[in-house]
Amino acid sequence: MSNPKRKRKNRHSSEEGVEEIPRLEKTEPLQLRYYGDPVLRKRAAPVPEITYEEVKLAEDMLNTLYYTEVGIGLAATQVGILKRFLIVDIREEKEDETGLFMLFNPEILNSEGEDIAEEGCLSIPDLRADVKRPEKIIVRAVDLRNQSVEFEADELLARVIQHEIDHLNGTLFIDRISGLKRQLLSDELKKIQKADRPT
Ligand SMILES: [Zn+2]
Repeated sequence: MSNPKRKRKNRHSSEEGVEEIPRLEKTEPLQLRYYGDPVLRKRAAPVPEITYEEVKLAEDMLNTLYYTEVGIGLAATQVGILKRFLIVDIREEKEDETGLFMLFNPEILNSEGEDIAEEGCLSIPDLRADVKRPEKIIVRAVDLRNQSVEFEADELLARVIQHEIDHLNGTLFIDRISGLKRQLLSDELKKIQKADRPT
């Protein structure tokens, strides 16, 4: 998910005042998949065990998320890998260090309340819409150390986790907005689908 309110810093521009970002030199960001790519409609498979491959995927996805600058969550599906894995990084939004999550096989055990907020998606650039979702959820998942974790999430964290779990099921946030509104967005969606992007 992208944060509609976060501004791009333009730090990759080759013009004046280029900031060095050492982590970007380690690995190239993964290729993001965009609206219209059939992989975004597939259901991802559970991860039986966290191996070196999964740890590497986590690192590469985090690097990819940072590279987008507006990203606050990314599902493996969005980089074309059909494994039930997602990352969330809302440390900037929360202004503390507890906002980083890397979750394998995430499940929502319980949800309550209702909340409407604007969402954006890295796979559907420049399109935003209000989405209604449960406000509070109980999540169970496996972490990078192969440990089962269970926690409660609300507000932005709950929203990002739900948005990313949707990706693992082949669902996009635009599927969750009403028919009429989606019709209004259909021209924009067609443009996004046809856009030429570097591969
Ligand atoms: Zn998304």
